[in-house]
Amino acid sequence: MKNFDLVIAGGGMTGAMLAQVLLSQHPSLQLAIVEQTAETVSSAATAMSSGSAVLASAPINSFDSRSIALAAGSVELLQHWGLWSEISANACAIKQIQVSDRGHFGKTYLNAAEFNRQSLGQVLEIEWLGALLYPKLAKFSAQGRLHWFRPDRIQSLQTTPEQQILQLQSGVEITAKLLIICEGGDSPTRQLAGMALTQQPYSQAALISNVGLAETHQHIAFERFTADGPIALLPLTKQRYSLVWTLPPQQAQQILQLPDEQFLQQLQQAFGYRAGVFQKVGQRQLYPLTLKYSAEPSKHRVLLCGNSLHNLHPIAGQGFNLALRDIAAITGLISTQLTSEKPADVGCYAVTRAYQQLRQPDISQVIQFTDALVRLFSNNSRLMALGRSLGLTALMSCPELKTKFANQSMGLSPILRQQQQLESLLPSGNPASTNPP
Ligand SMILES: Cc1cc2nc3c(=O)[nH]c(=O)nc-3n(C[C@H](O)[C@H](O)[C@H](O)COP(=O)(O)OP(=O)(O)OC[C@H]3O[C@@H](n4cnc5c(N)ncnc54)[C@H](O)[C@@H]3O)c2cc1C
Repeated sequence: MKNFDLVIAGGGMTGAMLAQVLLSQHPSLQLAIVEQTAETVSSAATAMSSGSAVLASAPINSFDSRSIALAAGSVELLQHWGLWSEISANACAIKQIQVSDRGHFGKTYLNAAEFNRQSLGQVLEIEWLGALLYPKLAKFSAQGRLHWFRPDRIQSLQTTPEQQILQLQSGVEITAKLLIICEGGDSPTRQLAGMALTQQPYSQAALISNVGLAETHQHIAFERFTADGPIALLPLTKQRYSLVWTLPPQQAQQILQLPDEQFLQQLQQAFGYRAGVFQKVGQRQLYPLTLKYSAEPSKHRVLLCGNSLHNLHPIAGQGFNLALRDIAAITGLISTQLTSEKPADVGCYAVTRAYQQLRQPDISQVIQFTDALVRLFSNNSRLMALGRSLGLTALMSCPELKTKFANQSMGLSPILRQQQQLESLLPSGNPASTNPP
């Protein structure tokens, strides 16, 4: 039986980032990742291998062809973790966001300059993130500080006061002082741990692709609400746009299969000409959309993180941003624990309880914000349309409201907020720290 301080279930975007941050900050930690997919080389990694990067073995289903909008607060975190300078080479700044309702008068613009910022956020193709993280993790494996169990899955959990005993499908048995579940929205291990899950299907699917325009994008992002669902365009490097087109599932299936020319025509018709003329479209993918979240972020020696804790509608581009804040909370709590308790128990009750207290308010707020946007902008009633138009106009004309909306979208100052809270939640030598609940 192998014993680890931390076991991460799921080595996708969240699990890999969490492992990278923890291992780069704490040389003494022994960490394992259990990932269901075998090693694969992503296309971005292949592209990079002609340059300086080496093999990257990203799980293909997490680091797929999507792009993500990183809020300004997430960029702060990545800078703090020493990753931003490398990521920024493949990221594209958002300098303006235009929010509008097709066929109605309401619209609002958010400009980075109004908030004294260089940008409101950055857009990154997630394949690049995999291509950056996996070679870094390979170095920790070579040093014997990170052990991959892959392809493998957790088959059963046995909870004792001091640890979680994990039986893997391969027959291997390992132990963890703390198990962190990063298996995405459909996590089987979350179920094994008996952690509650709330699900709410949206009857919508997100069709994603990269599109090329005749004009330059000038770093403008668009969120356009249409009768069938919202369309987001995020500026990418090389003057491309990342498209997230939300549609009723059947319609999305039909549009997915259209020849390129017809696809571009339909998109132009649905979006209008605000961004210019759509000329090219890349590979397309479809994601069914369901809100899934657990009101219970932690249990005895178990934490949920990333999509396993909150699987959101992509309308506001908040999912991975929220995951980065989960990671910030976990790394902050573990750092405090490692410095204040000798020998440190990284999975003790004080840590799991503090995680719950740190993360619950932020997650609830983002779920409410995102869900309200989906409901408000997926409703075709005339009254709702009028309300939306008035709301967007109010946002345009009321600086206070606009700042509040922008701050929510930018996810600002997570480091500052969390560091202040950590002090009070994890007092050193907390007598409760070694006791299970
Ligand atoms: C269309 C779309 C657009 C989006 N846009 C944005 C955006 O602009 N900004 C933003 O912040 N977020 C965005 N998101 C959300 C973002 O993609 C997610 O937050 C992110 O993918 C979560 O990563 P994760 O690692 O938690 O989960 P996943 O990506 O689902 O990864 C889970 C990992 O766990 C592994 N796994 C699963 N089950 C097991 C098991 N039983 N055993 C072992 N391993 C297992 C999987 O193989 C995978 O590697 C978007 C999402 C979608 C669908």
